[in-house]
Amino acid sequence: VVDVRGVHKSFGALEVLKGIDLQLRKGTVTVILGPSGSGKSTLLRTLNHLEKVDRGTVRIEGELIGYRRRGNKLHELRARDILRQRSRIGFVFQNFNLFPHLTVLENVVEAPVSAQGRDRAEVEVEARALLDRVGVGDKLHDYPKQLSGGQQQRVAIARALALRPAVILFDEPTSALDPELVGEVLAVIRDLAGDGATLVIVTHEIGFAREVADTVVFMDGGVIVEQGPPHEVLDNPQQERTASFLSRVL
Ligand code: ATP
Ligand code: MG
Repeated sequence: VVDVRGVHKSFGALEVLKGIDLQLRKGTVTVILGPSGSGKSTLLRTLNHLEKVDRGTVRIEGELIGYRRRGNKLHELRARDILRQRSRIGFVFQNFNLFPHLTVLENVVEAPVSAQGRDRAEVEVEARALLDRVGVGDKLHDYPKQLSGGQQQRVAIARALALRPAVILFDEPTSALDPELVGEVLAVIRDLAGDGATLVIVTHEIGFAREVADTVVFMDGGVIVEQGPPHEVLDNPQQERTASFLSRVL
């Protein structure tokens, strides 16, 4: 479903992504690990065109993201088309990013109605079921600030799911949470993984990576240093840089 080829991205003189190639199959869970500043968040953001690539292409379900091809040139899509593409790609941020002025239920209903043009009543039924599933079905009419961090993050996950996304991207979904709330969010993600969702997760939770990942990708300095099943990358890394990172975080 996700096909990244030769992606380069610089901020001014700083080259943050130096030629990323990544292919992810439908129904797989990919965990991206790497030191701070290695380009993990930038890579996730290029997948839904929150960051424009300088070179290379991103395809999701075969569709070129952010651009259309005319002859052998790429032209950036119009804002409306970018929003439509983005609505098929769930994104869960470190800081939840819920709309503060909307209730829990409204947060989940908003995008499927406004970006996908779906019927509000129908989306609302689905949203209630999703909020039940992530364990906040009793908070429908609360505002985000009335919830714990773990509850807010579970609402954010329900909001991503409501878009019926082809893939859901998680950028350190538990790193802003108090330790006792991490488990409840990981449990929801584990449940999605078991259900066959396609997930890409940037996290420092190595134990979780070992348990749920089909593929672990280790990034450093804007390149993918190594990737493979968790028992290979985590337990028997082939690259010195991977081994040294793991010895620091484990
Ligand atoms: P962390 O683990 O700390 O979240 P990361 O691997 O997610 O790190 P990125 O956020 O992708 O790293 O950042 C990679 C590099 O790009 C960093 O040096 C960062 O300062 C720089 N960078 C990221 N976004 C921007 C931006 N919008 N403008 C300028 N520099 C940026
Ligand atoms: Mg980051």
